[in-house]
Amino acid sequence: LTRLYGPLTALSNVRVDVMSALVSFDRVFEVLDLRPGIAEKPGAIPIPAGSGLIEFRDARFRYPSAAEVSLATLEDVATLDHRENEEVLAGLDFTVEPGQMVALVGPSGAGKSTTSMLVSRVYDVTGGSVRIGGVDVRDATLESLRDTVGVVTQDSHLFHESIADNLRYARPGATEEQMWDALTGARIAGLVRALPDGLDTVVGERGYRFSGGEKQRLAIARLLLKQPSIVILDEATAHLDSESEAAVQRALGEALRGRTALVIAHRLSTIREADQILVLDRGRIVERGRHEELIVAGGLYADLYRTQFAELPSREMAVGPLAGD
Ligand code: ATP
Repeated sequence: LTRLYGPLTALSNVRVDVMSALVSFDRVFEVLDLRPGIAEKPGAIPIPAGSGLIEFRDARFRYPSAAEVSLATLEDVATLDHRENEEVLAGLDFTVEPGQMVALVGPSGAGKSTTSMLVSRVYDVTGGSVRIGGVDVRDATLESLRDTVGVVTQDSHLFHESIADNLRYARPGATEEQMWDALTGARIAGLVRALPDGLDTVVGERGYRFSGGEKQRLAIARLLLKQPSIVILDEATAHLDSESEAAVQRALGEALRGRTALVIAHRLSTIREADQILVLDRGRIVERGRHEELIVAGGLYADLYRTQFAELPSREMAVGPLAGD
């Protein structure tokens, strides 16, 4: 009976888990091509190599309702009728020029993560468009999209395999030397070298457990191996001790140099450096500009800054999530 009930109990959880499965698919995007429901169009065209231009044109998005998701297989989630749900993004217009860093800030639930997920096609817009290098991402070959966009999130997925295998997802055929270079750039080579099995150490759930900051640095090593021209970064700093935090910061500085970056920003240092800050509120861009301009404007950004940033000790520069999550 338990043999029967086990799978049945597991099945009853499937519906609730579909959305979280979708989200965790996003986490492996940088290494695998597993986005559910996102298919390549017949006659898809490649994004020109090295493209750094991102354009959002009246980009709109609604999540599919839970009922729709429960009825759908993973393959046809993208074709669902989204009308029932509220619009989470209500027409975003912005351009990230090649090499620029654009910071997304705003209260919790404003739509920052959703915006970033439209670039890598975790989800497709339900209105308007997102273009990279002039190509609508829905018309692009998945291979060119995967080569162009790299993603670093707060909990990048590690497979229960060796460190080398995990790195090779980013660049099949990478040599050991290339892997060590990437690990060095990501400020994690020393730790890997100290492990008894080095690059062959098995990691993940049942293997060697890296800390949050170490996992972030491994994600950065993948980025350095893959060399995408666009980086999507969620820089949540929760749970990092200040040493790990500083190492992640240095590694990121290196990984972002010369690339286009769209950053869900939680650090004061990042938003100060950003070429443009987009302030999102309830799915709309309510303010845009550089830090100083937005402070002077005295709007939502100035409020967020005053309540979330200003009172923090300057030592850290890193601040907790702006959005209070
Ligand atoms: P936070 O700073 O808290 O991470 P955010 O600005 O990144 O927030 P999003 O995660 O993009 O905001 O969420 C925008 C809105 O979409 C929120 O109202 C959220 O509840 C909703 N939402 C997010 N994910 C889903 C989902 N899978 N299904 C339905 N609604 C969702």
